[in-house]
Amino acid sequence: MPEVLQPGATIGILGGGQLGRMLALAAARLGLRCHVYSPDMGSCAFEVVHATTRASYDDETALARFAASVDVITYEFENVPAQTAAFLATRKPVLPDPRVLETTQDRLIEKDFLAALKIASAPYAAVHSAVQLYDAVGVIGLPAVLKTRMLGYDGKGQAKLAKGIDPMLAWRTLQTAPCILEGFVKFEREVSVIAARGADGKVVCFDMTENEHRDHILKISKVPARVSPSLAAEARRVATRIAKALDYVGVLGVEMFVVRRGRKRTVLVNEIAPRVHNSGHWTIDGASVSQFEQHIRAVAGWPLAKPKRLGRAEMTNLIGDEVNEAPRWLTVPGAAVHIYGKGDPRPGRKMGHVTRVWPE
Ligand code: AMP
Repeated sequence: MPEVLQPGATIGILGGGQLGRMLALAAARLGLRCHVYSPDMGSCAFEVVHATTRASYDDETALARFAASVDVITYEFENVPAQTAAFLATRKPVLPDPRVLETTQDRLIEKDFLAALKIASAPYAAVHSAVQLYDAVGVIGLPAVLKTRMLGYDGKGQAKLAKGIDPMLAWRTLQTAPCILEGFVKFEREVSVIAARGADGKVVCFDMTENEHRDHILKISKVPARVSPSLAAEARRVATRIAKALDYVGVLGVEMFVVRRGRKRTVLVNEIAPRVHNSGHWTIDGASVSQFEQHIRAVAGWPLAKPKRLGRAEMTNLIGDEVNEAPRWLTVPGAAVHIYGKGDPRPGRKMGHVTRVWPE
């Protein structure tokens, strides 16, 4: 059982993006300090925390100093190098456990993990050679999606395979990196469940969120999702089983596709995000407790809250130049505007978000 932090204790956060920033803001409300470790000078989480370290993830001197200055360590992105997490774990508790990263950093291991739990996902096959690629296409059929095993996000590291086009062309666009081939899912909608698991093993889920992407990047999340209560319950059960099987402590996001099977609908898991998730940002303004506070409570060894939704909520990401629309959003009654304080609004960069909540 991890130790229970006292107010005034310090949580170390690996990663300095907006997720780290919002975690730190939630921690501050609970009287906890944060120390953010990030290699990036422009880390927007640096601005709101008690202490910062700017150093690379393989700088063992800086990592050791960081570990010595905090009580527990967590992360705000899933691609923390395994060696970094392992090094830190010998010095301070790292939550969620770094073994979670081994499962979620590699799409093949993640899919095998789901398959072992008999949790449905798109059909898949490993692609490490041209022979395997053609075999996989034969088994899975076309269209299909080729995804790099490592380091993919927001549609990066992915290529769609269409009928009548040589699959090798698509694989070459991914530098013939180790991949999985996934069957193309004709989904009705994309949804996600944000679940929190406390140090005591209890799991609580937020209401299922419905997600719309633009150019592979999340644009809008709406809650409640337009699904039946039984499907929402099924999705929560899936997320709960994943959290338990990973012996998870903290918040995780499970992205799913809603598909039709005859007259019934079911969910297929697309991806597990071992961290707070963009589709859970609505919880800051639309729920009695946010995903960020739940994560802080979990890693602090504190009891989780039972989240209550405050109404129908819609979160819109401000991507790239859209952050320039913030002044207009500020005049919209009831709109909660969040600006992450990132420098340059490059295309595709998440710069802020707006949440609106209406009575149901
Ligand atoms: P991912 O990086 O795996 O979350 O994929 C990004 C987006 O690509 C998803 O949110 C879906 O819109 C789409 N996508 C990913 N995998 C598939 C699939 N197997 N079938 C259809 N669409 C997919």
